[in-house]
Amino acid sequence: MNKVELQNIKEKALAEHIPIIMDDTLEALEKILNDVTLNRILEIGTAVGYSAICFSEFLQDGGVIDTIEREEDRVIEAQENIKRAEVEEKINILYGDAVEILPTLNNKYDMIFIDAAKGKYPFFLEQALRLINENGLIIADNILYKGYVMSDYNKHKQRTAVRNLREYIKEVMENPNLESQILEVGDGLCISKRK
Ligand code: SAH
Ligand code: MG
Repeated sequence: MNKVELQNIKEKALAEHIPIIMDDTLEALEKILNDVTLNRILEIGTAVGYSAICFSEFLQDGGVIDTIEREEDRVIEAQENIKRAEVEEKINILYGDAVEILPTLNNKYDMIFIDAAKGKYPFFLEQALRLINENGLIIADNILYKGYVMSDYNKHKQRTAVRNLREYIKEVMENPNLESQILEVGDGLCISKRK
């Protein structure tokens, strides 16, 4: 991977207010990813490809990332970025709405990274549970959503998102097949291991 290009991609995304994975979130994840075997990763929410490019470092030889994005402009920019970062043989972008694409997928993944519409997190979880390998990781970014999720403030205009994020947390915590923890890094990261 081309690290200089990765830095350029990151700076441009930040300047354009694209919500890429935060540094401390990535650091926390990297510690975990160093200890697991990743042949196949699924990402929901590519944006401009920054997190997918970062994750590609943790793939085994021959491993792949499938990443889903519904905004055409972002798909185009992500494709360019992936090429610039010299990881195009490792990352496939699936263009479309994850709500429609996920049910069509059938191959299993070792890690599924959920980082798209917060109101859809419970649906993404349902699909992730179907698509995750045993011992795989289901990881959800932005799970604490600026602190709204853990506060009792319920009149915010984002309350649908908050309700769905709370439902996601409840479901992973109650699921006997998962071992879950929430890390207070970045915007909140929920890590669930499929037992
Ligand atoms: N993972 C990226 C950031 C993703 S930002 C990174 O860290 O670099 C969230 C992205 O999800 C946005 O680009 C948005 O267009 C996309 N998105 C939101 N809902 C979606 C959906 N239902 N299907 C596909 N993409 C979606
Ligand atoms: Mg995010």
